Amino acid sequence: MASIRELHKQLIDKERSATEITHQALARIETLEPKLHSFLCVTADRALEQAKAVDAKIAAGEEIGLLAGIPIAIKDNLCTRGIPTTCGSRILEGFVPPYSSTVTQKLAAAGAVMVGKTNLDEFAMGGSTENSAYQGTANPWDLSRVPGGSSGGSAAAVASSQAVVAVGSDTGGSIRQPASFCGIFGLKPTYGRVSRYGLVAFASSLDQIGPLGRTVEDAAIVLQAIAGYDPKDATSLKAEVPDYVGMLKPNFKVRGRLKIGVITETFGWGLEPVVEETVKKAIEHLQDLGAEVQIVSCPSFRYGLPAYYIIAPSEASANLARYDGVKYGLRAEGDNLLSMYGSTRALGFGAEVKRRIMIGTYALSAGYYDAYYLKAQKVRTLIKQDFDRAFAKVDILVCPTAPTTAFKAGEKTEDPWSMYLLDLMTIPVNLAGLPALSMPCGLDEKGLPIGLQLIGKVLREDHLLEVANAYEQTTSWHLKTPRFSCQIGWRCARGSAISATARRHRWRWVRWAAPTRARDLTN
Ligand code: GLN
Repeated sequence: MASIRELHKQLIDKERSATEITHQALARIETLEPKLHSFLCVTADRALEQAKAVDAKIAAGEEIGLLAGIPIAIKDNLCTRGIPTTCGSRILEGFVPPYSSTVTQKLAAAGAVMVGKTNLDEFAMGGSTENSAYQGTANPWDLSRVPGGSSGGSAAAVASSQAVVAVGSDTGGSIRQPASFCGIFGLKPTYGRVSRYGLVAFASSLDQIGPLGRTVEDAAIVLQAIAGYDPKDATSLKAEVPDYVGMLKPNFKVRGRLKIGVITETFGWGLEPVVEETVKKAIEHLQDLGAEVQIVSCPSFRYGLPAYYIIAPSEASANLARYDGVKYGLRAEGDNLLSMYGSTRALGFGAEVKRRIMIGTYALSAGYYDAYYLKAQKVRTLIKQDFDRAFAKVDILVCPTAPTTAFKAGEKTEDPWSMYLLDLMTIPVNLAGLPALSMPCGLDEKGLPIGLQLIGKVLREDHLLEVANAYEQTTSWHLKTPRFSCQIGWRCARGSAISATARRHRWRWVRWAAPTRARDLTN
């Protein structure tokens, strides 16, 4: 599927209608879902209604914004009024929120067409989307592998063109790591840049919502729409939103503008050699573009992981106390109130969520609080100071997004610690509340995507977008698509005549794609 700007042009030139574009996305979802499982719920009727409203505006000669008529996928931990919101958990089975998150409201107001809610690790706890109580999502680049997590559904949906863009949440890397595993751009904004009103809380001092897209501009357009102060979120920042989209100049040169620091410690952390090599090449490329590159040291980073796995579960144990069988979703039987609470939670929460509630409750309990929680908060301050020192010298920090490429489904499920290790490079960013972006910078020998992480100063998302834009313009990694997804229904994506056919004979078109899919997926 084309980029937002290309689709926008087609819409205003009346080459295609928003309804046609929506039908195309829905048909693609229909075709790919049996293999990918990116979505927990597809909102076809609502999407077509939203598309119709955009078409009516165009027909009436009204001006439309860039996001109008663009298919978007939403992570299923963002509340959407009248549409089930499960957080990938049994405990929220059947929960239909009576209100919408600020982000989904803003996107709807911008005319974006929500095609569905995407799969995630239960309550966003995990790095592979395997902790979802409903289904595992496959990585479009290799269906036997995970798409990363916890926003794995959103990343897989975008990488396979089931949606043009998506929204995810990032508490310790959940936008950036799946973006890296799926070969797309993922941006975690500064803490407070985007309102979290209506985002189901995991760890409130870390959670942030952000975009995933196949181009820098697509991600910037979504960020533009969702950023900004919201009186409904006490942590949202009263800071002006810059023109992220307008500043993406066609021939941007890094030279003389931005200094880049390479975090030396991250290269000693058990990186897969191919990841290390590829990321180094990407940094050299930024140097060739004129960036002044220097090595910086952030010695406290190594303690980020243990600190996070105390702080995040502590906050989660408090946030998840509300799921008791009374207020939301699932209720299991019990002889009295206490046993009903107990059986609801035993049935409703999965193993990882229970593990974190136990760790968090333990860390916060009297007698252990100082040794664990307080200590972890002190480490958090040290990490923030490391960043402050580094940012006194440079404008942007770079490191790999993840130490490996996508791994096989089931490979790490028995060993939570090995899953936690994937977050080494993303977690410090959340602990310090900074913005960071993952961008595709190469493929490993198996053809799996590798991501480069750019970390910015507070509220300097513009720096990240500028550098990513310069890199994108001078490389072609972002143009690489998973082999199987570029062959399914691609003919439809190319021309309005075929889209119209798809609209009229949607099912026939889906069947036409099937043989290609079958042949392609036998690896
Ligand atoms: N993988 C990390 C965790 O399991 C990060 C999750 C997130 O960012 N939501 O907590």
